[in-house]
Amino acid sequence: MKILIAKTAGFCMGVRRAVEMVLDAPNKHENPISTYGPLIHNPQVLNLLEQKGISVINEIPDHGSGTILIRAHGVPPNARDNLEKAGFKIIDATCPRVIKVQTIIHKHAEQGYASIIIGDKDHPEVAGLLGYAGEKGYVVDNLIDLDFLPAFDRAIIVAQTTQNTLFFEKVKNWAGRKFPHYKIFDTICDSTAKRQAEVHSMADSVDALIVVGGQNSGNTQRLAEIARQAGKPTYHIEAESELDLKALSSARYIGITAGASTPNWITKRIYRTLETLHFTKRQSWYRFIFTIQRAFLLTNIYVSIGAGCLCYACTKLLGITDYFPHVLISMLYVQSMHIFNNLTGTKADRYNDPDRASFYNKNKVLLALLAFIAGGAGLMTAYTIGLVPFLILFAMSIMGLSYNLTLVPKRFARLRYRRIRDMPGSKTVLIAMAWGIVTSVLPSLSVSKSIPLSTALVLSWSLSFVFVRSAFFDILDMQGDRIVGKETIPILLGEERALRLLKSILIINLGILLLSSSFHLISSLGFALTICPIFLFVALSAHERSYMLPGFRLEFLVETHFVLAGVITLAWSLF
Ligand code: SF4
Repeated sequence: MKILIAKTAGFCMGVRRAVEMVLDAPNKHENPISTYGPLIHNPQVLNLLEQKGISVINEIPDHGSGTILIRAHGVPPNARDNLEKAGFKIIDATCPRVIKVQTIIHKHAEQGYASIIIGDKDHPEVAGLLGYAGEKGYVVDNLIDLDFLPAFDRAIIVAQTTQNTLFFEKVKNWAGRKFPHYKIFDTICDSTAKRQAEVHSMADSVDALIVVGGQNSGNTQRLAEIARQAGKPTYHIEAESELDLKALSSARYIGITAGASTPNWITKRIYRTLETLHFTKRQSWYRFIFTIQRAFLLTNIYVSIGAGCLCYACTKLLGITDYFPHVLISMLYVQSMHIFNNLTGTKADRYNDPDRASFYNKNKVLLALLAFIAGGAGLMTAYTIGLVPFLILFAMSIMGLSYNLTLVPKRFARLRYRRIRDMPGSKTVLIAMAWGIVTSVLPSLSVSKSIPLSTALVLSWSLSFVFVRSAFFDILDMQGDRIVGKETIPILLGEERALRLLKSILIINLGILLLSSSFHLISSLGFALTICPIFLFVALSAHERSYMLPGFRLEFLVETHFVLAGVITLAWSLF
């Protein structure tokens, strides 16, 4: 079974913008915050917003307080006036492309044109558009009703931004034949057009299509409609629990697309469920490998092996012969800290990685025990090397453990940063620093009392390498993190800039290896290890171009670049 996710699946620009505006609102605008109508057709997101104190107001009250957000769909002008009269401050998250259609209608209505809006009568965007048409606004959603409209001297035809492009083509033909003097504005949003075109082309190459999104979401319904018209078995679902695995198990190619208001973590969950189905259907050895891979990732054993491999590479770059205790310390420390962080940070995982969240919930005690044993064993091993490595590791462990703890008392509740994790980007930076120290500084301190230039270079290589890995996972988890209020580096920078930053770091990483090896500041292994940043660069680019989809395989591949460093080092040592 091969699974394809449409490149256009998920939040469109307008919905993403509205979600971000409402999530930022409690810190920037007068509270309480509410939205006029549900922000998106997704019960989980709405529950979360409710937990954050953001309520939904469906009817405009006589008196209101705080701030109200107008959704991407927009509202009729009188609704906006009434909200203001009721006493609300307004955040207008109307999508700029919807504003463009409102402006076209308004401008022509003032000049006496009738407005024919091709759209769903009950859709809030259409209700908003109609409000700008004055007395002469008409909503039509089929060709028969078009024929019943009066003939106008002057009229414009516009479309709801998420209208079916094929249907609008028919409307254009109808107008061309009967009323060539009508002005036609193709106002279907290009995001909608691209999404629909992709479903068309996907339908040609898959055996079944899964359309993800709210059952009442008009644009999602249309995607399902297009897929069905293409003659493909189509499943319009809201969550992975609705997947008909029995019916899908016979499909060789499955396409997944999603409506404009579907968060990407829901699509990811569906992909992950199908990915599991894909492997459980294969031969037993294939299934066995997948189960092991999954178990290694969930328990962080694979990350820990990766840390050991990275440390092994660092010691060889520095020419340290007694590498074994350091490799062991790195593995035990990383194993322990990652389990602790997964145990205390399952809130975001509920969205980004439900499999991991439920695994940690079910095996809390066992995993906590494993983390304590690993942490304790790491400290004991460090003690056998010397007091300084022990104290450094001890301080790092305390810091790691206190990452999720509230360090500033409640009476200072007004302080924004009361836990280390509250600081924007702190997780990614601290993980990178901790890995860097444990894999390069600790081994170096066992042979020298100071930190020579070679150690600083290897530290920057190891640290930047881990930084890219962690920040890349943050990119995959952006929407879920945003919803639970985490401020990761990709959230601060935006996805595109974050990806550019990571690629630049990898290029610098490559340069560090080449130059340091050329000037004999580190061993010649540096030349061979240049494969690692190139490998990660290719993985990032593959994800950027949607060749690699978020799931176990991508996660495994990204973690494998540390193992690759270990394998290259071993080969270099042997030959
Ligand atoms: S579908 Fe297009 S017009 Fe509608 S909210 Fe999204 S980006 Fe804006």
